[in-house]
Amino acid sequence: MPPRGHDVRIARCRYDEKIMNAALEATLIARKTALIYRHAVLSQALSSANALMLAYLMTGPLGIASAPIWAAVAVGVAIVRVATALRYRADPRRVERAPVWCRRYESGALVSGLVWGSASALFIAGQGDSARLFTAFVVAGTVAGAVPILAPVRRAFAFFAVPAVVPVAIAAMVGSGTLLHTMLAVMAVLFLIAMLRSAAVLHATLDDALRLELGKDEMLAHLQEARLQAEAASLAKSRFLANMSHEIRTPMNGVLGMAELLSMGTLDVEQQRQLGTLRASGESLLALINDVLDLSKIESGRLSLTDEPMAVPDVLRLALAPVSPAALGKGLAMRCQIDEAIPAVVLGDALRLRQVLTNLVGNAVKFTDRGEVTVTAHVRPSPRGSIAVTFAVQDTGIGIDADKQREIFEDFSQADNSITRRYGGTGLGLAISRRLVALMGGELDVESEIGRGSRFHFTLSFSLPPA
Ligand code: ADP
Repeated sequence: MPPRGHDVRIARCRYDEKIMNAALEATLIARKTALIYRHAVLSQALSSANALMLAYLMTGPLGIASAPIWAAVAVGVAIVRVATALRYRADPRRVERAPVWCRRYESGALVSGLVWGSASALFIAGQGDSARLFTAFVVAGTVAGAVPILAPVRRAFAFFAVPAVVPVAIAAMVGSGTLLHTMLAVMAVLFLIAMLRSAAVLHATLDDALRLELGKDEMLAHLQEARLQAEAASLAKSRFLANMSHEIRTPMNGVLGMAELLSMGTLDVEQQRQLGTLRASGESLLALINDVLDLSKIESGRLSLTDEPMAVPDVLRLALAPVSPAALGKGLAMRCQIDEAIPAVVLGDALRLRQVLTNLVGNAVKFTDRGEVTVTAHVRPSPRGSIAVTFAVQDTGIGIDADKQREIFEDFSQADNSITRRYGGTGLGLAISRRLVALMGGELDVESEIGRGSRFHFTLSFSLPPA
């Protein structure tokens, strides 16, 4: 039976996981290899210096004839290992070829270990106590110093430490069985165990840290990808909404046009009432569609502003006109103050400025039962060749809670749930206005106090037409 979709998905996940794990392990090896090669030159220099000093002491004061040959071999091995490290650094494919370079390093470590181990055969076995102790001391120092350098690759450390230290223990017992020599052999074994253990602990810590770091990088990459996907999806959604709203608007205009034609015919009272309801519903639906269309157009970056000559007083007058009957009906005073310093003509998008102001004044009238609504336009200091104007719409209405004053600028957001029941609305007007003001280069803000009223304001900078 063929695997079902679910099983296929699980199998695929496992397969992906395997690939990811393999990729992670490959990166880990590359990082660890880079770490062990990083100090290769310095460590080989120090190791050569140790070898030379040991050989000098063994040749001069202690008269061991083979010491110079041993030192020459030790330095020769160090030189080859430095050359390998330099070749590694010069390899442009060292990351992909990390396993090969790692094995080369391990082989180098094994050879060095054997060289240091041979020092024990030469300078400990059958020699005097001074030679024995000094050689054991130098070997121990060299091995201890290698722990942090070789810990990233455990095998490299074992390859170096075991052949370097085990001969100390064996050589210490050769030719004599004194307590000192036995103790030296036992201590060499204990020392080796302790060093292997330290290297293991250090290796584990390093391994964890590297895995954490790589995991973090991977997670960031995933997050970035998810963010891009979410942004693309949101853009697609906005485009879809813009297209849909546009498509719905055309037949809706047809419906309203037909209702208009019907109203011109002879209708009895009941039919007129029904037609009135039909038109009111149609108009509010069209207003909602227009809002959604505007919002999605702005979201998808398809709304472009014009920069044409316009007269600010005319824009204000046109913005107040549709709201004035409602204000009058509620007995509200409507005031409009326009700074005389505003030039007769400025360059801007009259339609969008009017849309914002109509929305703000509409809200002011909607949320004010008594008192007044004042619209002002004042000039602000601005650079030559442009003019900054602060527009404000102030009312003496219900006001907005301090903790809701940011929220109301969000899409579909109202100060509280009772607002829809009492005043209607969709919570889109301010979201659109805020975006339009931002597109025009300003920032829509509000100051408000519950029960005392609100003041919405923004400042725009207009360029002036050439004289
Ligand atoms: P709508 O008016 O359709 O609900 P808006 O986005 O224009 O949507 O307004 C969002 C909310 O902000 C309103 O529902 C109301 O709670 C609050 N609001 C806006 N203007 C005023 C105002 N002048 N006075 C009091 N509350 C206001």
